[in-house]
Amino acid sequence: MADVRDLRIAIIGAGMGGLGTALAFAKKGFKNIDVFETASNLGFVGAGIQMPPNVVRVLHRLGCWEDIFAEATNVKGTSIRQGSTNAELSHVEMPDIEEKYGFPHCTGHRSSLAGGLFNGCKKEKAIKFHFSTALVRVESFEGKPRVTLKPRDGDEYALEVDILLASDGIKSVTRTQMLAQIGTESQEEDTGQAAYRIMLKRSEMEHDPELLELLDCDTVVRWVGERRHIIAYPVSNKQIYNLSTAHPDTHFAAATNATYTTRGSKSAMLQMYHDFCPLVHRMLNLVPDGEVCEWKLRVHRPLPTWVLGSVALLGDACHPTLPHLSQGAAMAIEDGAVLAEVVSRIPPDRIHDPEAVTKTLKVYELLRKPHCSALVDLATHSGRILHLGEGKAKEERDREFRQNGKTGSVPDKWASPDVQKMIYSHDCVQEAIDKYDELFASL
Ligand SMILES: Cc1cc2nc3c(=O)[nH]c(=O)nc-3n(C[C@H](O)[C@H](O)[C@H](O)COP(=O)(O)OP(=O)(O)OC[C@H]3O[C@@H](n4cnc5c(N)ncnc54)[C@H](O)[C@@H]3O)c2cc1C
Repeated sequence: MADVRDLRIAIIGAGMGGLGTALAFAKKGFKNIDVFETASNLGFVGAGIQMPPNVVRVLHRLGCWEDIFAEATNVKGTSIRQGSTNAELSHVEMPDIEEKYGFPHCTGHRSSLAGGLFNGCKKEKAIKFHFSTALVRVESFEGKPRVTLKPRDGDEYALEVDILLASDGIKSVTRTQMLAQIGTESQEEDTGQAAYRIMLKRSEMEHDPELLELLDCDTVVRWVGERRHIIAYPVSNKQIYNLSTAHPDTHFAAATNATYTTRGSKSAMLQMYHDFCPLVHRMLNLVPDGEVCEWKLRVHRPLPTWVLGSVALLGDACHPTLPHLSQGAAMAIEDGAVLAEVVSRIPPDRIHDPEAVTKTLKVYELLRKPHCSALVDLATHSGRILHLGEGKAKEERDREFRQNGKTGSVPDKWASPDVQKMIYSHDCVQEAIDKYDELFASL
């Protein structure tokens, strides 16, 4: 009888989603996994990332969590402060996250998370990486998908696979072509927001006791102001303090949709946060001139489908999100784990039946789309509340903050115990195991 693990799996993109997907398929015993990546190496931006328990659960199962955890900060609480005064609006303790959800909430360096996944992949004979190789076109989605690939220094070539998984990010070529096939246009949405990403070294902060205290604690701090905020936490064994901002986009407004990053100006950054407190300014002032980088925050209209034929989208390719809930990469890695689980469950006598493959990918979409869409909406909603200006709505928000989550909820949805419970207790792989047969039969 045919063995599902012989199916040829092609993955486009070696971001968090692509790496997680490759490792998840290898751990399920798949033998032919090819990953195609435009860039010549992993090349992750110098920035931190939050790793909530729902993704730690997946990383743990993939066998790569231990090394990532070795450098991570195990978060024990969050402090939400008025940006202008540094006065604390709320302090939500999170001492028992691991007890409640089985896994900790951590922060880390992006290269640590990507490196952990990549090292895990490198141990798997089944995974082959093809760096400097871009997907040019999907020639056919149905049956056995055919694609055209282009190595940076070589000629285009064609490839046929059994399943194509596109983790090619917010600018996904696969998404554009999939939507064109069904007569719809790919529509990215301007969020009107941009972000600075900053990493400060211990050596730059250690002369200042207040800054050192931030670096040495296990707390995520969010400073909020009208239409802006800064979120910050220690990473890399507390050798680096990571700051990520969100503010109105003024520099990308005239740029094309393809522009996502730009070298920022330090004076513009200081001006953007001019009314924030001296503590924040002491940190922003540490950023070297010429090293300010600004990101445009783009999302996408909800898609009519994530699946066509034997091709599925995952991660930012199908559910890009504002970062305010810290779930974007987590969702992408979860997608890959769910895909590996459901594909491994294709009925053995239907492995080479295209209809069964499409249905299985549709089961993935049914499992993931409502959950991810809810989180994307919640991130947008949370940003709106965090960025309120003076007025009644802000007064009400601050009153809710002062209750410190005692009601089970705070306006910063990332830190809100009710939202944490909903997201962190969700075991996406277990759900796939429990529901695959029923959903497959329903299609
Ligand atoms: C400021 C900010 C803070 C964030 N903080 C967090 C956080 O704390 N926690 C969290 O979970 N998430 C966070 N996120 C979100 C997270 O970074 C993304 O959701 C996640 O990285 C998406 O992963 P991905 O693999 O889907 O896409 P990407 O990481 O974009 O990877 C796509 C890959 O595909 C490659 N590619 C693209 N086109 C092609 C092609 N045609 N052929 C071959 N390769 C191709 C690209 O080169 C890239 O390597 C944050 C995002 C931002 C902007």
